[in-house]
Amino acid sequence: MGTGDAPELNDLVAARLDAHDHRYTRGRRALVEALAQSAGPVTISEILSRDSSLSMSSTYRNLAVLEDAGIVHRIVTSDEHARYELDDAVTEWHHHHLVCAGCGTVLDFTIPDDLEASLNRVLRRVARANGFTSEHHRLDLIGRCQACG
Ligand SMILES: [Zn+2]
Ligand SMILES: [Zn+2]
Ligand SMILES: [Zn+2]
Repeated sequence: MGTGDAPELNDLVAARLDAHDHRYTRGRRALVEALAQSAGPVTISEILSRDSSLSMSSTYRNLAVLEDAGIVHRIVTSDEHARYELDDAVTEWHHHHLVCAGCGTVLDFTIPDDLEASLNRVLRRVARANGFTSEHHRLDLIGRCQACG
């Protein structure tokens, strides 16, 4: 801790790791803090450039563990550089992504609450029609960013 991060985040992460029989090691903590401080989803190289104490091999391993425990969400893009962020379940910030099919940039966005409620109604209907029970949704918009035009 000690970087001004909300202690609740670390408690939540520790509890989730514990539930998956993983320890909250120093490397994992540094990774969670790097993601918490990012303005949006980041690539592995962006994570590594931000914290020189992180090594590439352990970062790959730790991201896989954190993803498995539902702490980190991986956003697959058109390029081979996936973007990573803390999962909505951990940040309690439900949002969506704009994914650029050209350069792979990923931007976070939210939609107004009333539209979110309508969307949930529609999705629940779709789920029911298919014998699904809906829990939550992920919705990413694929397009082209300004730079890729
Ligand atoms: Zn682009
Ligand atoms: Zn996001
Ligand atoms: Zn939504």
